[in-house]
Amino acid sequence: MSLNNFEVKSYPEIWKALGVDVERFEKMRCVLGDIYQTSYLSQENRPNSMDYFNWIMSEIHGGRITEILEYKKEGRPVVGTFCIFIPEEIVIAVGGICVGLCGGSQGPVPDAEKILPRNICPLVKSSYGFKIAKVCPYFQAVDFVYGETTCDAKKKTWELLDKKIPTYVMEIPQMKRQRDLNLWLEEVKDFKLKIEKVAKREISFDDLAKAIKIVNDKRKALQRLNKLRYHKPSPISGKDVLLIEQIAFFDDPIRFTEKVNRLCDELEDRIEKGIYVSSEETPRVMISGTPMAMPNWKIHNIIESSGAIVVNEESCVGTRYFKDIVDDNSKTIDEILQKLTERYMKIDCSCFTPNDERVSQVLKEFKDSQAQGILHYSLQFCHTYNIEAVKIKEACDKSNIPFLSIESDYSPEDIGQLRTRIEAFIEQIKSQN
Ligand code: SF4
Ligand code: SF4
Repeated sequence: MSLNNFEVKSYPEIWKALGVDVERFEKMRCVLGDIYQTSYLSQENRPNSMDYFNWIMSEIHGGRITEILEYKKEGRPVVGTFCIFIPEEIVIAVGGICVGLCGGSQGPVPDAEKILPRNICPLVKSSYGFKIAKVCPYFQAVDFVYGETTCDAKKKTWELLDKKIPTYVMEIPQMKRQRDLNLWLEEVKDFKLKIEKVAKREISFDDLAKAIKIVNDKRKALQRLNKLRYHKPSPISGKDVLLIEQIAFFDDPIRFTEKVNRLCDELEDRIEKGIYVSSEETPRVMISGTPMAMPNWKIHNIIESSGAIVVNEESCVGTRYFKDIVDDNSKTIDEILQKLTERYMKIDCSCFTPNDERVSQVLKEFKDSQAQGILHYSLQFCHTYNIEAVKIKEACDKSNIPFLSIESDYSPEDIGQLRTRIEAFIEQIKSQN
């Protein structure tokens, strides 16, 4: 796809039928297209297999929506999500679709701030704003939203969101004792009943086993991709990997897996031929912290336009989503649900206390990715990640790892200040290596 012909395609008829504010959404669509063009298509030496992901971006507000509406006609449930705690295997087991809803853009934040307090996480404001401003066709298309009790801002916002769209809330335990695992298992079983009710059919052992394979394969493909980008020098930019990690939340899982594996084949070939997007000397930065929902490319843009490369995202839009798979060696449906629950309890979200396994995981990924510094990224007002950054810093100080902690929102206002801090951080990495 050339630099000059990219556009996020327009589907006004479909949007109108979904109740989208078409006039306003058209403007947002054009802005997204412009940002994608300057941030992504201007990169040199991208792998050819990125063409598929460019195509997905051009069809993000039409092609995939059309597919989803077709599935809906067949009675397949469509569930909107904001968190990787959703047991998506259960949704897929009834032929349903999980869609990661928009929550990474500044556009609808002022709409949300007319109702919600200003000093809460931008992800929560952005998500709520998308619904009340009617500027997300996915939000308009879902049967219900999956919410969870991971943080105060989210769990109280679900009560308000439920007035606009049915919002089903699962309780996520905040400790990892046996009794917490038991609670979570009961929540997973209730969620299965909820999905069966919406789909008007029961989930069989085979349905669930098949769904587990689909999602395991998807996570394995992302693990493979991440391992390949760890190569020094890297054969693919951090921005491109972030984009794929974001697309993972709304593309068809089987097609997505196939395309990621195809990209991995190309990356293996690139490594063999010595084709890279960086050099041996390019400073390597790992990002750790809160998720970067589409189209939040701010930090990657700054880092990669400052002469460094991002080599890992220890994040829910990143390794936290795909590092663990479900043990697929079960004989009964109860056993599958138990193993599923155990897999989800491995998520090291900062909502847990204590959460020491995250610190070890950050250090492990730092080593595996051959990174040279860790940038801890926290969305503004996310207390759990902001406070946990203290522990990550202590661990980095102990191991003499260059560390920078930043807190930001989706507005462009702090880009200049962030750039100055990130450039200084890159200089520090250079001087320590
Ligand atoms: S950081 Fe925690 S609450 Fe947020 S998406 Fe990840 S698991 Fe869910
Ligand atoms: S980033 Fe933090 S505050 Fe924001 S929704 Fe996630 S857990 Fe809640």
